[in-house]
Amino acid sequence: MSQVRISSRGLRPFAWVLGLILTLFALTAAGPALASPVTVTDVLGRTVTLPGPAKRIVLGQGRQLNALGLIHPDPISLLVGWGNDFQRQMGEAYTLYRARFPAIETLPTVGDSTADGFSFEKAVELDPDLVVLSLSIAGTRRGPGDLVAKFEAAGIPVIVVDFFLQPFRDTVPSLRILGKAIGREAAAEEFVSFYQDRRQRIARRLGPVERPSVFMHAHAGSAECCFSPGKGTFDDYIAAAGGRNIAAALLPGATGQVSLEQVLALDPAIYIATGGTHLARSGGLVLGLGVPAEVASRSLAAQLARPGLKALTAVRKGRAYSLWHLFNDTPTHIAAIEAMAKWFHPQLFADIDPQATLDEISRRFSAIPLQGTSGSSRMAESRKTWQARRQSHEFPRKPRLPRRSRGCPAMTALVAHARIAMIDPDAIIAPLCEHLAEHGAEVTQEEGATIIALGSYRGWLQSSDGHLIVRAEAPDIASLQGAKQAIASHVLEFAPRGEAVPLIAWTGAGSDVAIPSSFRILTVTGIRDISPHMRRISFRGEDLARFDSLEALHVRLFLPPPDLAAPEWPTFGEDGILRMPETDKAPAVRKYTIREINPVAGTVALDFVLHEDAGPGAAFAARARPGDRIGMAGPGGRGLREADWYLFMGDETALPAIGRMLVHLPSTARGFAVIEIADAEEEQALVCPAGIQIRWLHRQGAEAGTTTLLQDAFDTVTWPSDDATVYLWAALEHSDFKALRVAARKRLRPERDHHLIVSYWRRGISEDRPAD
Ligand SMILES: Cc1cc2nc3c(=O)[nH]c(=O)nc-3n(C[C@H](O)[C@H](O)[C@H](O)COP(=O)(O)OP(=O)(O)OC[C@H]3O[C@@H](n4cnc5c(N)ncnc54)[C@H](O)[C@@H]3O)c2cc1C
Repeated sequence: MSQVRISSRGLRPFAWVLGLILTLFALTAAGPALASPVTVTDVLGRTVTLPGPAKRIVLGQGRQLNALGLIHPDPISLLVGWGNDFQRQMGEAYTLYRARFPAIETLPTVGDSTADGFSFEKAVELDPDLVVLSLSIAGTRRGPGDLVAKFEAAGIPVIVVDFFLQPFRDTVPSLRILGKAIGREAAAEEFVSFYQDRRQRIARRLGPVERPSVFMHAHAGSAECCFSPGKGTFDDYIAAAGGRNIAAALLPGATGQVSLEQVLALDPAIYIATGGTHLARSGGLVLGLGVPAEVASRSLAAQLARPGLKALTAVRKGRAYSLWHLFNDTPTHIAAIEAMAKWFHPQLFADIDPQATLDEISRRFSAIPLQGTSGSSRMAESRKTWQARRQSHEFPRKPRLPRRSRGCPAMTALVAHARIAMIDPDAIIAPLCEHLAEHGAEVTQEEGATIIALGSYRGWLQSSDGHLIVRAEAPDIASLQGAKQAIASHVLEFAPRGEAVPLIAWTGAGSDVAIPSSFRILTVTGIRDISPHMRRISFRGEDLARFDSLEALHVRLFLPPPDLAAPEWPTFGEDGILRMPETDKAPAVRKYTIREINPVAGTVALDFVLHEDAGPGAAFAARARPGDRIGMAGPGGRGLREADWYLFMGDETALPAIGRMLVHLPSTARGFAVIEIADAEEEQALVCPAGIQIRWLHRQGAEAGTTTLLQDAFDTVTWPSDDATVYLWAALEHSDFKALRVAARKRLRPERDHHLIVSYWRRGISEDRPAD
C-alpha cells in the first residue's frame, strides 16, 4: 500500500500548511468554518489526503457520474472536467442531466475513456483539486501511461474507484471512497445500505440452487457475434443472480470474443443480449434509459432473428432476454441482478420487481429521473424469441456497421478513396478507431496506416500533410456504401468542434451509384378494389428477393409529392452519406405490408386502406395510375412464428399482414383470426388452414379506432388447453393497442407464450406528426 499525501494543485505543500494555519486562524476568529483534511484509501489501496472535500473534480471516465449522481444532488457542480464517454455512450442520460444541470454543456472534456485517449495535459490545465480515475484506466499502472503516477508527480490528488471490472468487490468501497472524498459520507452510506439489502435478499433466497448456463452477448448486433464478458464485470452479476456464465471459462480476461460456433455448441439455457442507445447507429440492440418498451422489444426480436442465434435452444424456448449494457458501470446494476435472478429462477423471485428497484433509486437517490424522457422506458427487460428482423429503413441514420467476417477476409474487389483536409487528422483517427472497435472492428497498424476490418469491408486511415487519407475496400457495392457511410459519418462525428466541417469526396468504385442497396423503385401496374375501402395495387420492380420474407413483412414506402414532374429519392452524396431530397420534393414515408410477392416475376402487391382524412399513403392509393412510381425500402417488422395455437387480431390495416400469414400457416395450425372492419362489405375471402376460425367484428357505423370490439373479443376468447403454446399477433389503432397489450400481459404465460402487439396508426395523428 502506498502512502501519498498530496495537496491541491497551486497549493503545493508549503502553501497547504499556510492554508491550514489560515484555517485555524479563521476558526479562532469565529469566521466561517473551513474544511478539515479528508483521508481516503482507494481501491488500489493507496491512501490519499485532501485538504478538504473535493469541489473541483476531473472525472477520468465520464461514466463515474452515474455513481456521483447517486450520492450528490448536483454532481455537475463538483466537476471541472470529465471524459467524453458519458455523452457518447449514454446520450439519453446526458439529455436528462442537461435538462436539470445546463452547466454540463460547457464542462470541458479530458479526452476519451481509455488510458491512451485520456489527456493528462488537459486534466492538469483544469486545475482540479481531485482526479477520479476508474480502475480500467488506472489499473494497469505500468510504464509512461501510468496516470496515477503522473498525477502524483504533478502534485494533484488522484483516487481510483471501480464499478466495472470487479463490481462485487469494488462497488461498496468505491461508493464510500467517493462519498468521503466529496464530503457526502452519509449519503453514500444510505445508498450502500439500500444496495446491500437488495443483494442480501437475493443471496438469501438463492441457497444451493442449480445454476442454469447463461451466455451474455455484449453489444449485441453491432458487430460479429459474440463479444462477451469473461470474468468480473457482468460475470459477477450472473453469479449473484444464480446463473453460470459459460464465457467465463472461455475468456482469459474481463471481456473477449466467443465464436458463434462455440455458443451454438455450448447451447446455453439462457441467452442475454446487452445493448443501449449507443448501438442505434450501428444497428445493434437498442434499449435503456429513455427507450420505450416497444422499441426495446422490437430491437431484441431483430437480434434474435439473426442467423445462428435463432437456432439456440434458449431463443427457441423463449429464454432470451435483453439488458441495458451500461448497467456495467453503475451501482444501479443491482436492478439488473434482480432482473436476471427472475429470468434464471422465475419461481424463487416471482415477487421481485427490478423496475420498482430502479424507481426507488430514482426517487430516493438519483440526481436525474431514471425513467427516461419518454416516461415509458423500462429498465431493459424485454423477453422475446422469434425470427423478426430489424426494421431496415432508417435512412436518415448512419448505417449498421457490417459484421466482421471470420477467417480469411473475402477477396476485395471494389475500392474507394477519400482525401480529407483537416488540421489534425491524428486527433480523429484514435477516437474513431476506438469507437469502431467497440463495435467489434479489428484495428491494426501497418506501415503507418491504421486498418479497420469490419464485416466484409476494410478501411485504411492515414494522416499525411494536413489530410486524412482514407481507402475503403469491399466485395460488393452494398458493403462499399456501408463502409463509406460508416467512415464518413464517424469522421464528421469525431471532427473537432470549432473547426471547419471536413469536406469529404469519395472517388473510385461506387462513386456513380447513389441509390441505397435496400431501396427499390416500384412502378404501378394494376389497381383493384377488393372491398369498398381496401385497394390492392400491384407493382413491378427489380431485384425483389430480399423482400420475400415471412419474418419481416413490412416495408417503408416513399411516396413522392403528387405534383412533382419527376420523383426524387434518397441518395448517397459525394461524401458517402445518405440524404433525403429537399423538403418540397421529399417523398412522404409510410409503412405498409407486402400482401403478395413474386421475386421471380418481379411483382409485388400491397393493400391500402382508403380512409377518411387521407394522408400521403391513402391519397396515393386513391389517385394511383399505372406507370406511377414510388420507392420501397426494407423489409422490416416481425411476422409469423411457430406455436401450437394462434390468435391473430387487428383492424383493416392489419388485414394484409394477417392475410399473408394465414396463407403460410402449416395445415395443422389451430386458432382464431379476429378482424375489426367497418361492415360486412369489407370482409375478404381469406385462405387459411381448417383449424383457424375467422371472426369479423363490424363497427356498424362507428368510426375506426373508436370501439372496444377487439378488446371485448379478446376477453371472450376460448383459449387452448394448458400444454399448448400460444402466439398472439395483433396490430391495431394506438389506443386499442395499449388496452390490448395490458390485457395480453395479464393473460399470456411468459414462460410459454409469445406475442407481438403493435400500434399501426393513431387516430387523429398523421404519421408525419410526432405524437404528444
Ligand atoms: C408496420 C406497419 C404496417 C402497415 N401496413 C399497412 C397496410 O398494409 N395497409 C394499410 O392500409 N395500412 C398499413 N399500416 C397503417 C398505415 O401505415 C397508417 O394507416 C398510416 O397512417 C397511413 O398513412 P396516411 O398517409 O394515409 O395517413 P397519415 O398521414 O398517417 O394520417 C392522416 C390521418 O388519417 C388517420 N388515419 C391513418 N390511418 C387510418 C386508418 N386506417 N383509418 C382511419 N384513419 C386513419 C390518422 O389518424 C390521421 O388523422 C401499417 C402500419 C404499420 C406500422
